[in-house]
Amino acid sequence: MERSLEGQTVLVTGASGGIGAAIVERLAAEGARPIIHFGRDKAGAEALLARIGGHGWILQADLSAAEGAFELWRGAVDLARRVNGLVNNAGIRTEVSINASQADWRAAWQREFQINFFGAADLCKEAILHFRANGGGRIVNIASRAGQRGYAADAMPYGATKAALVNLTKSIARSFGGEGVTAVAIAPGWVRTEMAEDFIAAHGKAAAVADIPIGEMATPSEVAELVAFVLRPSQASLNGATLDVNGGSYIR
Ligand code: NAD
Repeated sequence: MERSLEGQTVLVTGASGGIGAAIVERLAAEGARPIIHFGRDKAGAEALLARIGGHGWILQADLSAAEGAFELWRGAVDLARRVNGLVNNAGIRTEVSINASQADWRAAWQREFQINFFGAADLCKEAILHFRANGGGRIVNIASRAGQRGYAADAMPYGATKAALVNLTKSIARSFGGEGVTAVAIAPGWVRTEMAEDFIAAHGKAAAVADIPIGEMATPSEVAELVAFVLRPSQASLNGATLDVNGGSYIR
């Protein structure tokens, strides 16, 4: 495999999960040194580090805590000194209906925004400061088709957080591209991970793939391959793009 990412250190959040782990493996295969962030699954993060031959680091942080993202960035810079890329991949998808109590409704929206958006925004802030003081860097935000086309009645916060993430990506691209900081959003439809399995368990696979012309969910490795491509130093002109990975289920 081409080692297009040789010498790059990349922080990947939520890296013990399905898409995150695939991203880490792909980045490592292309020569990068990943910083594997995990929330709770220490054993999964350690196993992942072992799978990439130990050429990276692992870091714990709870992104549901107000300070979590800032602590994570400090930890990453302490470990690696120079970070070249940030992949905001951590995310949750909460079901909450309009029949929920006021307290449950507000709690679901606040938690979803904290993890999917505020945590990512805080990391972007710190990364931009670090990148522009150190010769540049790249941000990849894992958004979702849900943020582009709107989302299901029982999980509306999810789509809203992802739309915000796409918008943040565009603002960064417009504002900091001139200082060597570029940002790209990747917007998958269903990807076959635990998040998708939960949906399939509740609603069936037919419901998940019904509106996907190719009749299949994406695989985590497809998304990972694209992340590695976007991080290549040669790909600066992708700055500001939102890349759709949805089998044709949403064509803009
Ligand atoms: P996953 O549940 O396997 O992974 C999510 C990761 O986020 C996990 O590693 C988890 O530990 C981390 N995380 C969640 N809450 C956290 C917290 N409080 N603190 C720290 N880490 C926390 O899900 P996945 O399918 O691999 O999703 C990865 C990303 O891709 C998410 O942002 C998701 O929204 C996005 N996405 C997934 C799909 C899909 O169909 N699976 C589709 C579009 C977008």
